[in-house]
Amino acid sequence: MTRVWPGGTIGILGGGQLGRMLALEARRMGYRVAVLDPEPEGPAAQVADSHVRGAFDDLEAAMKLAGESDVITLDTEHVPRELLERLETMKPMRPSARVLRVIQDRLEQRRFLEALGAPQVRYAAVSDAESLRAAAELVGLPSVLKTRRSGYDGKGQARAALPVELAGAWGRIGEAPAILESFVAFEKEISVLLARDVDGDVRFHPIAENVHRHHILRTSRVPARIPEELAAQAQALGARIASALDHVGMMAVELFVTRGGSLLVNEIAPRTHNSGHYSFGACATSQFEQHVRAICGLPLGDPSLLRPAVMLNLLGDLWRDGPPSWSPVLAHPAAHLHLYGKRRASPGRKMGHVLILGEDVEQVSTLAETIAAELDRGASAGRDG
Ligand code: AMP
Repeated sequence: MTRVWPGGTIGILGGGQLGRMLALEARRMGYRVAVLDPEPEGPAAQVADSHVRGAFDDLEAAMKLAGESDVITLDTEHVPRELLERLETMKPMRPSARVLRVIQDRLEQRRFLEALGAPQVRYAAVSDAESLRAAAELVGLPSVLKTRRSGYDGKGQARAALPVELAGAWGRIGEAPAILESFVAFEKEISVLLARDVDGDVRFHPIAENVHRHHILRTSRVPARIPEELAAQAQALGARIASALDHVGMMAVELFVTRGGSLLVNEIAPRTHNSGHYSFGACATSQFEQHVRAICGLPLGDPSLLRPAVMLNLLGDLWRDGPPSWSPVLAHPAAHLHLYGKRRASPGRKMGHVLILGEDVEQVSTLAETIAAELDRGASAGRDG
């Protein structure tokens, strides 16, 4: 088993915000960081020691990254399988190519969960108009059609409430191979955030309670308002999933809590996750430090929550008239601004987040909504002077 000590180099496939925050924490701990990303000045490349410019299907560039690295990880699961398998022969890949094989394809992921006996939504595979009709009979309507590959933040998803809407939904996702899932009228969404180390030990960050808008995460609130018993069940389920995959690193398992109070797995992310951003400021060990520890073969850190927290995502919509005014965030001493250094904003694009800390999660939540409203008003009023 390979251990990588501070001074070694962590290679990251992907250069977005997850890679950026991982790089910041890794460098604090004395690691070098190399990033593979096609963008000239992406969020992670801006703060890395080394940037290999190249796309995820550029084997030569990926091998250059592997050559510089002692361990390889990723900030997106949308990396071609062949490339992962090749890199794995060169350097330790955490998560492994096998984990990615299961996760990259929503149908494989659902089948894996089914084999594990994990509770999940009803689903069926869709490959053409005929199988779509059969799938709708099986899972019922309303339902959500999701492309098997490359979907995120609601991309590659379309809802259908009536049989006549199925063909339209199929068209909206580009008639790509898909799964149809029954639509869950959930009570809330939560995520289990855990790290599994090279010896198979698991540690949990506190469960986050998540609110999405238009399929994109808007806020995470910690502690989540769920009974202790349900929290324990969710964490046990998360650990079972991570162990069955023999995963190493951070993992997020997104779950629906139904109105009847039971759990259904929505999806698995074998990496750091947006709903764990609160930990970067609110926990003794952030999810990014924990991921570094896990993939480098170090002992895991203490993930306990230092203070109740709410994380508010900042989407590109706020940049509609140029960069928004940051005064509404900076005026509140309890609010902490995180920006990812993205040069271009577009609606729905994750540009940063605000972490709000306090003693009382209700007050923190109210302050988060006040800041959100002020930012929105400020976005139309113009920039800081
Ligand atoms: P996903 O990309 O699959 O995580 O979907 C993003 C968000 O869309 C989820 O967090 C939910 O808010 C919503 N969503 C996805 N699938 C379903 C479903 N089967 N039933 C209800 N809501 C869903």
